[in-house]
Amino acid sequence: MWGSRRDRDRSSVICIACGESLPRDDAREYDKEGDRWSRRDKEFEYLCKECYRELSHQPRGDLEELLTDVEASAGGDTQEAYVAAYQTEVLKRYGGPEADTEDADGHRD
Ligand SMILES: [Zn+2]
Repeated sequence: MWGSRRDRDRSSVICIACGESLPRDDAREYDKEGDRWSRRDKEFEYLCKECYRELSHQPRGDLEELLTDVEASAGGDTQEAYVAAYQTEVLKRYGGPEADTEDADGHRD
């Protein structure tokens, strides 16, 4: 349960792949853009060593490019805006489960 402060809470992170909690020192930072040196306002996600190792030899296709484009169009404001922009972009590129997904989102060209 979050909110109860224990000694190690501050340095404990969650692996985004398997959900395991581990000490930050043992975790690998994961940046969606593959650019760990541009820290700006972003929060990094973390992977445990096992998942990081698996990740490194899995092809990700054009995901990085997609995510970078999404951030550009979302303006990097909020996580909600980012996710919404991501979903829009994915639908645009790959189509959705429903053929006629259409939202009037103030989208301009
Ligand atoms: Zn993991």
